[in-house]
Amino acid sequence: MNVRNIGILAHVDAGKTTLTERILFTTGATYKSGRVDDGNTVTDFDPQERDRGITIFAAAVSCDWNDHRLNLIDTPGHVDFSDEVERSLRVLDGAVAVFDGVAGVEPQSEAVWRKADHYQVPRIAFVNKLDRAGADLDAAVASIRDKLDVTPLVVQVPVGREGGFSGVIDLVDQPPPTVAAARRLLEEEVASRHPGALEELDDMSDATLRSALRDLTSKGEAVVVLCGSAYRDIGVEQLLDAVVDYLPAPTGDPGGDLAALVFKRRERLTYLRVYDGTMTKGDTVWDAGAGRTERISRILRVQADRHTDIDRAVAGDIVAVAGVKAAKAGTTLSTRQHPVLLEAPQAAEPLVSVA
Ligand code: GDP
Repeated sequence: MNVRNIGILAHVDAGKTTLTERILFTTGATYKSGRVDDGNTVTDFDPQERDRGITIFAAAVSCDWNDHRLNLIDTPGHVDFSDEVERSLRVLDGAVAVFDGVAGVEPQSEAVWRKADHYQVPRIAFVNKLDRAGADLDAAVASIRDKLDVTPLVVQVPVGREGGFSGVIDLVDQPPPTVAAARRLLEEEVASRHPGALEELDDMSDATLRSALRDLTSKGEAVVVLCGSAYRDIGVEQLLDAVVDYLPAPTGDPGGDLAALVFKRRERLTYLRVYDGTMTKGDTVWDAGAGRTERISRILRVQADRHTDIDRAVAGDIVAVAGVKAAKAGTTLSTRQHPVLLEAPQAAEPLVSVA
């Protein structure tokens, strides 16, 4: 199955929790849509997170969209938790940056954006809350250009404004003639940045435009901008399509030597990303950082409201495993014959003691 390992990067209050909820609901991963304001959302399952109303601890949740598995790695938006932000950025292949349609780019989103630049994480942007009074897509796009020094490529036209905001028109896939001018503008912007597309400017197909957008995104040369309202469930399906269309698939060789990075431990579960090779239930693996073996007793796909046992995880997967006793976030699990270190171990931190 095709995979997208993505994070949702946002300033606190931009709507990350609401958007994650809508994504899980839209993809059928949850049947009940929790509302942030009711304190019953499924991603914030730690009571402390619920109480504070912000997403503090990273966790990964899987859902499926159009034959693609989307692993959403929760990336804390709060500046106090930047270690976790960095660790989650490390395991992403792409990200959705969420901005508030009224405030545009805020200082914390800028800080996380810079970190994502550092890790060269390809991104698309979602301007949320377009239903709010004072929301202005053009102003938000201008703040993306000015504050983040990146070329925004707006691929949608919003229908209606503020309270009357009612939908988005896609400019890439067979756009209606009513938006011909906006489509032409997008083609010209793309062509000027993408030499391959320039020759086709007079007759640019949807496929050419989409592939140029994918290319520019993966090189970080531009950011595709979408918009909507997570709260009103506008633009969420289009955003999921864009994740599949523009953000890259993981690389790695399922037949290679095992290399898996632990990025989170929580409630007896160890969250990890497999970069290379295959991890099978029952395997004994080598923690190269700690210099000890660990046994993988269960491998779990973490969904919004349940965990599903699976037999193996292959290169590109993000899963939780049980049975691991001491491996810390940041350590690499490999085979003893071929030890690998994906990240330098942090010697200062004591190991979790094993009873
Ligand atoms: P987070 O801090 O980024 O996770 O943001 P939340 O998802 O908790 O949203 C913060 C507040 O904004 C909540 O009161 C949401 O109901 C509200 N909100 C989220 N998305 C939208 C939206 O699209 N439109 C409006 N009007 N409010 C929204």
